[in-house]
Amino acid sequence: MTRSFIPPKRILMGPGPSDVNPLILEAMARPTIGHLDPQFIRMMEELKELLQYAFQTSNRLTMPVSAPGSAGMETCFANLVEPEDEVIVCQNGVFGGRMKENVIRCGGTPIMVETDWGRAVDIDAVEDALKATPNAKFVAFVHAETSTGAQSDARALTALAHEHDCLAIVDAVTSLGGSPLLVDEWGIDAIYSGSQKCLSCTPGLSPVSFNERALEKVRNRPTPVQSWFLDLNLVMAYWNSEDGARSYHHTAPVNALYALHEALLLLKQEGLENSWKRHMDNHLMLRAGLETMGIDFIVPEEERLPQLNAIAIPEGIEDVAVRTHLLNEYNLEIGAGLGPLAGKIWRIGQMGYASNPENILFCIDALGNVLNEFGYNTPVDKALEAARAVQAAL
Ligand SMILES: *Cc1c(COP(=O)(O)O)cnc(C)c1O
Repeated sequence: MTRSFIPPKRILMGPGPSDVNPLILEAMARPTIGHLDPQFIRMMEELKELLQYAFQTSNRLTMPVSAPGSAGMETCFANLVEPEDEVIVCQNGVFGGRMKENVIRCGGTPIMVETDWGRAVDIDAVEDALKATPNAKFVAFVHAETSTGAQSDARALTALAHEHDCLAIVDAVTSLGGSPLLVDEWGIDAIYSGSQKCLSCTPGLSPVSFNERALEKVRNRPTPVQSWFLDLNLVMAYWNSEDGARSYHHTAPVNALYALHEALLLLKQEGLENSWKRHMDNHLMLRAGLETMGIDFIVPEEERLPQLNAIAIPEGIEDVAVRTHLLNEYNLEIGAGLGPLAGKIWRIGQMGYASNPENILFCIDALGNVLNEFGYNTPVDKALEAARAVQAAL
């Protein structure tokens, strides 16, 4: 007989989703009300303000797209890129490749700037591409490349885009809430994120923000946006109409939005800077433990993301066996490598609610023990000691 599904209790330390705070799950279980109910609309207004805080922007068009991060990506490209547009696309991992696909499907021409996986986007190479492409309209890049654990300089890349009369389209799915991101101060024109990484909300929503320059482009397109669902000219009638009236576009995912509201409220209560610092502190603990176990990071130190730690799988250790063991014996999920890094790296996320010292110690202990079971010989106690020493010195 089929019964209700009761998921196991896991600790999620992969590339997302991350552990969801129980307060957020509770918010999600509250009664569903109409998506045009005045009380719901009041909640939506607060949600927009909380998102403006998280993005550090006063952009009026700051709202969650009713679909996962990939839909936020598609919202940016589908609304901004018109047929024949040349777009500089920076690729240093999986997600830059998806940006390229988006540009092609919008009828645009991607001009690829490739940097080795595991490195930050090469700014000089982007400048060369801009000089060689005088009619380029956009520079698109991933701030936090979750597939490799590398962080790119979003401020410098945005400034460079502007010097060449381009708008900057930024993927902040893994950076939002986890590492410094200042949309207005850096001048980012269009940006998207996801609910399930450092915001620690349930998956399925994608916060986006467009500044006036970007919006003007959307409003004045000679060709209609190819996607009806993602066309911001239509979505704004529900989320952002000038006169405050709301008209039906699609049924908002009511309970999921309660959850995002709660997640952003928790971020605001903690304080953005404190959240950034917490992710960095816990990363330093994790690093100390991993290094003591002789495990290497694949990203140079100054380009590392604190919330996503990409590490080389030690010689002779089998990827799937270790991850399966961690999941079955420790209820701990860590991430596999993607594309050319499959079988070569693990990705240890410590995002949002999952980023805490207990989890870091648990992860070092579990990984060390499992590695030793598979024939690696590492001093787990010393690794835990090193992590605790970092914690004590913070
Ligand atoms: C997770 C992720 C996405 C896609 O988000 P989904 O919610 O899985 O659609 C896009 N970009 C980056 C950098 C990501 O980490």
